[in-house]
Amino acid sequence: MLIVMKAHASEEQVQRVCQKIESLGLRAHAIPGAQRTAIGITGNQLEVETGTFDEMEGVQEVIRVSKPYKLVSRDLKEEDTVVRFPNSDATFGGDEIAVIAGPCAVESREQAFAAADRVARAGARFFRGGAYKPRTSPYTFQGLAEDGLKILAEVRDRFGLLIVTEAIDNESLELVEKYADVVQIGARNMQNFSLLKHAGRTRKPVLLKRGMSATLEEFLMAAEYIMSEGNYNVILCERGVRTFADHTRNTLDLSIVPAVQRLSHLPIIVDPSHGTGKRNKVTPLSRAAVAVGADGLIVEVHPDPDHALSDGNQSLYPEQFDDLMDEVRQIAKVLHRSIADRVADPGAHRARAVSLSAGPVTAR
Ligand code: PEP
Ligand code: MN
Repeated sequence: MLIVMKAHASEEQVQRVCQKIESLGLRAHAIPGAQRTAIGITGNQLEVETGTFDEMEGVQEVIRVSKPYKLVSRDLKEEDTVVRFPNSDATFGGDEIAVIAGPCAVESREQAFAAADRVARAGARFFRGGAYKPRTSPYTFQGLAEDGLKILAEVRDRFGLLIVTEAIDNESLELVEKYADVVQIGARNMQNFSLLKHAGRTRKPVLLKRGMSATLEEFLMAAEYIMSEGNYNVILCERGVRTFADHTRNTLDLSIVPAVQRLSHLPIIVDPSHGTGKRNKVTPLSRAAVAVGADGLIVEVHPDPDHALSDGNQSLYPEQFDDLMDEVRQIAKVLHRSIADRVADPGAHRARAVSLSAGPVTAR
């Protein structure tokens, strides 16, 4: 159920409705919109009489939401969610298309710094790099764990890039939350409901990747898990699904971008690296992702892909990433959006760095 408050409802009236909801053993999610506040109700038993709220002061309308997802839905919030960061003007879901770039895994300080220098110069605002790697084989590189997170924190300080890195379980989540600006939940964990709930209790935005066989509804329900715990800063990511096609690692399902945007206010970005698994397809699919209306890209870039410890085949050489950025920048313009310009000296942009302790600003 969803309660739409009147445009001029006071903060107190909103509070009173929330208290009433909580007194029934349910959870209230007051989401301010451009025109009015809407209050989503979640909980295990949703049998509530609409009449309970109809007559309360400041209430405009009580709506039954028939879809299984409520908080992610445009029914609750009509306008797009913009995920913001303290001390930075980078966003997800705003006019600027967000670009996250960096290696699959943090392998060493030197490797991470070399990658960061190049992607920052090319105009990326966010740096990726796994410190915990969910690998298919237990015998391949598993990541540097907390040492990797410390390197990532140094990258932020040195280059002013915001850090996106994956948590693979509840234990790593605690550390990732401490060091990163965005917590990534990988495709293999999209339905790890315990991890989703814990991520919902963190104060950092969450980048949720689509499971490799997840339907649109399952994808949105996974985001609903995070939001239902009170974290409204969720960024969705299409990264390809398993199909019979064998010319790529996965089949990048770009049609999910407009499908998500129709149903949800959350930003959605595209991962053409895992989506194709092949370096020569990353730039064409990045162009397509921007053209289809994605709010961002996450791209693997390695200073020496031929010797990468993971996903070398799909990692771009830094000069390829330079070209990719120049191309998508032009495509973005057609859609009246932008992508940050090249930066001559990324070290001079330290002011953009975010302090470790700062939390995210709530979505508008
Ligand atoms: C990654 O981004 O490095 C990763 C493991 O991605 P996915 O979860 O989409 O496979
Ligand atoms: Mn990878």
